[in-house]
Amino acid sequence: MSPAIGILALQGAVDLHARALARLGVDAVEVRRPAQLDTVDALVLPGGESSAISKLLVLNSLFDPLRERLRAGMPAFGTCAGMILLATGVLDGRTDQRSFAAIDIDVRRNAFGRQNDSFETELEVAGVDGPTVHAVFIRAPVVERVGPGVEVLATVDGDRAVACRQGAVIVTSFHPELSDDLRLHELFLAGVAA
Ligand code: GLN
Repeated sequence: MSPAIGILALQGAVDLHARALARLGVDAVEVRRPAQLDTVDALVLPGGESSAISKLLVLNSLFDPLRERLRAGMPAFGTCAGMILLATGVLDGRTDQRSFAAIDIDVRRNAFGRQNDSFETELEVAGVDGPTVHAVFIRAPVVERVGPGVEVLATVDGDRAVACRQGAVIVTSFHPELSDDLRLHELFLAGVAA
């Protein structure tokens, strides 16, 4: 049986991830409750507002069970706010904002400043063959510390990490679900299958 893929569906860009996965033949499960989390083998954490998602995770009694699954090695793919939620450290977060420490990075929220609130660029991404990836950034975080076990997959401005991987956890500052390019979702699914 192929692994069941979930999308954390408390807030944010859930539908576009579902559509991207559907184009790859995956019928993803929307996860809003602990019982739904129990049915999935891997999880996408979408973009949105990380402080709001953090609050909803606690309110829906999902924070602790999800942290346990991630500790036990569940593969995960976090985009933008999802990256923030999976990180070890969050800079410029709300004081009550929580994160899972599922990948050993510290991220800064809204790191590109007002003028650069949203932008698009072409990125070389390690592990993604062929043409560059068209990357859409929206009030995006940047990675400010990369732990020893973490692989940087892509950077902007030479040295600002915007995509990382540690084991079966992949995170991007940008929104792969906003372009037609399915290669980052494929990279995630390849990690789930491995
Ligand atoms: N700025 C948002 C946050 O801090 C993330 C933006 C996004 O997911 N597009 O959660």
